[in-house]
Amino acid sequence: MTNSATTIDAIDALLPQTQCQECTYAGCRPYAVAIVEQNETINRCPPGGVATLQALASLLNIDANNYINEVTEQTRAPSRAIIQEDLCIGCTKCIQACPVDAILGSAKFMHSVISSECTGCELCVEPCPMDCIDMQALSKPEFNKDTARQRYESRQLRLDKIANEKQQRHQQALVNKMENKADNESQQKTSIQSEVQAAIARAKAKKQQKQQLQTG
Ligand code: SF4
Ligand code: SF4
Ligand code: SF4
Repeated sequence: MTNSATTIDAIDALLPQTQCQECTYAGCRPYAVAIVEQNETINRCPPGGVATLQALASLLNIDANNYINEVTEQTRAPSRAIIQEDLCIGCTKCIQACPVDAILGSAKFMHSVISSECTGCELCVEPCPMDCIDMQALSKPEFNKDTARQRYESRQLRLDKIANEKQQRHQQALVNKMENKADNESQQKTSIQSEVQAAIARAKAKKQQKQQLQTG
């Protein structure tokens, strides 16, 4: 499907950057990687619709006609999220789900969406325990694609960093545990050796005392 001149960057540039995962990949760039490296098909992006299909087909020299009907059916309208703030309990689940860090708030406080950054991915809707996030339909996307890409990449870097630090802490805890165990075993060994030496000394002293009594 792809030729050597085709780059992941060029494909990613054509994708909508909604970062909704509806293509079954973890975002637009992972889908671009799959198209290049796994020969993934170009009909998997509902937010991009027919326009994205045709752009990808043109870039990759593929006939889009085979996919037009199904992509037309699965295309979905742009939208953005709105939080009913009076119902929000500040659980932070929506913040954790948002792929472009478009939600502001902290634990136990009301949350709100930064409208201009929201891609309409809908990933915050399902985790909300209060069912207080609504999607508002738009006539066209209102977010900036390049900004959405940057915010998505920054978030991925941050999550990778947190995961690495967690793994390092886990490994350090294991090393500490093993070192403590070795220290304890060494102390126990030293203690047993001391007890044995003391017992030998006591036995020798007793023997000498007995010999002295017999000779005296
Ligand atoms: S917009 Fe959604 S479906 Fe389209 S490529 Fe990006 S993550 Fe995949
Ligand atoms: S606020 Fe919700 S709909 Fe908007 S980008 Fe974040 S997760 Fe997606
Ligand atoms: S998931 Fe819902 S209840 Fe929780 S902070 Fe977000 S909007 Fe508020």
